[in-house]
Amino acid sequence: MSEQIQQIIFAELARVGTETALPPGAVLWKEGEPGGSVAFLIEGILDVVNTAAEDQEVVLRTMEAGTIVGELSSEGGRRSATVRARTTCRIIKVPAVDFRRLLRRRPDILEELYRVQVERVRDLTREVTKTHRRAITDPLTKLYNVGFFRERLCIEVDRAREIGDQLAVVLFDIDHFKHFNDTNGHEEGNVVLSTLATLMKQVGRRGDILARYGGEEFISLLYGAGREEAARFAEAVRHAIEAHSFRGGEKQPDGRVTVSGGVAVFPDDTDDAQILVEAADRNLYRAKEGGRNRVVSEPA
Ligand code: GH3
Ligand code: MG
Ligand code: MG
Repeated sequence: MSEQIQQIIFAELARVGTETALPPGAVLWKEGEPGGSVAFLIEGILDVVNTAAEDQEVVLRTMEAGTIVGELSSEGGRRSATVRARTTCRIIKVPAVDFRRLLRRRPDILEELYRVQVERVRDLTREVTKTHRRAITDPLTKLYNVGFFRERLCIEVDRAREIGDQLAVVLFDIDHFKHFNDTNGHEEGNVVLSTLATLMKQVGRRGDILARYGGEEFISLLYGAGREEAARFAEAVRHAIEAHSFRGGEKQPDGRVTVSGGVAVFPDDTDDAQILVEAADRNLYRAKEGGRNRVVSEPA
């Protein structure tokens, strides 16, 4: 809030409000209480806290001198959070009715408060977006994680069923990866995992969902793809990996890093999302049995 507006609010509220001191830890008001007053913080720091799951407190934000607190429930709603003094605070408390009268008289203050709220919502949206991205991303490969994949697969299978479309999943597993780790070390193994992710992204179409399915397993969801198209994609990935020169790859049993792949197709193989992944896994197993560094896309 601008200094000038702070001064105006302070002067206006000082006329109608009561100045109070809060010692550290004192609660100004509690989450859920009816809001009947608004406070202006003259000095100190206030914590705005929410009680999240299992009674764990989360500090949503801190308020510094010069800010208005509690204005959002000045229309008679309940307090959305608890406000507590972090340090010794001096506040002016005014009845909500006086505060509303002030806003009607001074639209410049109203406009400033609106601007502050817009900024808060923007910050919050940025935070939520970041947290969401972190929650659905595998930190090593930057691909989607398995939780997100499962969720999307169910959604996409439902959608495909509804409109009579098809889709495919392809499961990949690195060949002799334990051997790679044992001879080159775990760190070098991690380099292979992240490089593989990059290669898969380069081969995939925009909009394909690529995820790290487990330790050294990857899965892709190809919306609209049938068996042939999925097999072509899987083969292109397999080839890109075989052709890539990985550091330490020469010590692998086949002299290079390779992957095996298994394909399954909705609705040809099954119309169930879970069974679809199992069908891809069965074909992956066949690819391993068949000698590795290959793709199997046999119908279930
Ligand atoms: P196969 O060809 O039959 O797939 O043999 P494999 O050795 O790849 O299969 P196995 O399942 O025995 O070994 C998988 C290995 O993947 C074992 C584990 O150490 C490694 N691994 C799993 N997650 C990670 C990871 O995050 N980083 C690294 N470096 N290695 C991992
Ligand atoms: Mg494996
Ligand atoms: Mg493996």
